[in-house]
Amino acid sequence: MTEDSITSADPLVYEDWGGGRIDWSLAAASLRASINDTTARRSTRLADMHSQVEGLIRVARGEKLRVLLGVLNRIEQEIEREQEQPSADLSRLSRLIRYLERLARHLETTPEPTPEVIALYTGASELPEVLADSLRRNGFGAHPIDLEDPDPGLLEHTGILIYLADDEPDQAHKFERLTDLKNRMSACAQTLMISRRDDFSVRAAAVRAGIDHVITHPIDSARLNTLLAGARVTEHDDEQITVLLVDDMATAGIYWRKQFARENVRLLFQTRPEAAFETALNEFPDVILLDLYMPEMDGMDLARIFREHPQLSDVPILFMSTEERDQYRLEAKLKGGDDFLNKSISAEDLIRMVRYRAQRYRQARAERITDSLTGLMNHRAITQMVDNELDRSIRQEQPLSVVMIDIDHFKQVNDTHGHPTGDRVIRGLSTLLNTRLRKYDGVGRYGGEEFMVVLPATTPENAVKLIDRLRIQFADERFETDDGKTIGCRFSAGVAGYPAHVTPQEIINAADEALYAAKQAGRNRVETRDTG
Ligand code: GH3
Ligand code: MG
Ligand code: MG
Repeated sequence: MTEDSITSADPLVYEDWGGGRIDWSLAAASLRASINDTTARRSTRLADMHSQVEGLIRVARGEKLRVLLGVLNRIEQEIEREQEQPSADLSRLSRLIRYLERLARHLETTPEPTPEVIALYTGASELPEVLADSLRRNGFGAHPIDLEDPDPGLLEHTGILIYLADDEPDQAHKFERLTDLKNRMSACAQTLMISRRDDFSVRAAAVRAGIDHVITHPIDSARLNTLLAGARVTEHDDEQITVLLVDDMATAGIYWRKQFARENVRLLFQTRPEAAFETALNEFPDVILLDLYMPEMDGMDLARIFREHPQLSDVPILFMSTEERDQYRLEAKLKGGDDFLNKSISAEDLIRMVRYRAQRYRQARAERITDSLTGLMNHRAITQMVDNELDRSIRQEQPLSVVMIDIDHFKQVNDTHGHPTGDRVIRGLSTLLNTRLRKYDGVGRYGGEEFMVVLPATTPENAVKLIDRLRIQFADERFETDDGKTIGCRFSAGVAGYPAHVTPQEIINAADEALYAAKQAGRNRVETRDTG
């Protein structure tokens, strides 16, 4: 990056709080003391609170306490509003601080802040198995909710609200309640209705109620997965979006940086086309905002350059200009822009637009790399990961292990119990691999009933031990067949890696050979040729 790039996400400053964990109740009480201290001048009190809140925002952002962060941001805005247009009594600010105190108490009574995103479900039936499974795999914790008396604490963390519709013809009241709940959830939370009935009136009612997705029985698990992965992605977006703004006026960067910072959007700013191109390639922005007129090269040409690069070919590009002529706007869209925004757009509208575009883009990207049956990485994505991790391992002089896993006698499962049972086993193994491995390990569906696991910084010896534990756990699992029986399954695995092999293809071939050896040796075992 060059010097004229500005990043709104400053490095986190933990020193302010002695580096330790912060006592949120105390912090809220301290704000309360400041607002109540009528011996000090109003402007002094506000300034003092402002600096306290800024520090708290940094910590909340660092610890990813999204809910607290939301309230703190509102408090900061309210303080700024009071500084500009004083109200009679600071009652709104007072209310927000009381709210913060309540949340802080809630945090203390919850031992560990749960990392999971919440999925709330309600309705006539139990959570269907495919749905429960898919939720778990996509990192959601599922909680039932009473439509008439929902827990407000849960609503705040909700990523998706699921309505299991019953067959009653008149569900108007339920839809009303759902709309109400939706309004109380975070703006990016989604709603999903699972319906046994599939006719126009059900779908029309769902659309009127603002329900985002409708899935009908029998549940299409591939679509469900994509959808939940998308909802999960949306939730991540709430954390941080990266926007690249290219404008020859440095003041534009300063102005938008301030606006975006409030919304937790990371703004990269460049005034020169070449530097912008480099930043785009290094930082993977979610949205690119381009000034249409720049002295060195106009925005349209720059958009074409972006579009021609495979890594940037589908990033949303929005032009910003004062240009009003329709012909010109059309031309700009034809050259690769996705939309055209007037430079006088309000900050609020621009941020909404950016969020919307970023979400769609991330969702599409997630779909491209995801296997629809299992929600794991697909063949292309996992083999790409072998490439990337091998490069990294060589650079960092770290070992790397790649594992090929293949379910034993899987054809028999299909032949004896049917394809749906086979699919259930495949999903079961996916869930096991996905939940038992570390965050930075990769798990992909290599093909049919074959999986690939990529384990950075892991020797073949350790990889064998790790996969062997999973082998035993998998063998202990039971799966229901369609005719009500339960069956067990086993797998064989082969391990190979760097430094014993030095190209991605060599590693994959060696892992495949080790897998073949495991099958030959009688199956239900893990083999490697890469140890000492
Ligand atoms: P081995 O122990 O040697 O691996 O025996 P196997 O029966 O597992 O070997 P084989 O590779 O011959 O059979 C794999 C079977 O997996 C064949 C195919 O019908 C089935 N299969 C592949 N993809 C899927 C899938 O997505 N769903 C289901 N249910 N079956 C699949
Ligand atoms: Mg096979
Ligand atoms: Mg097999």
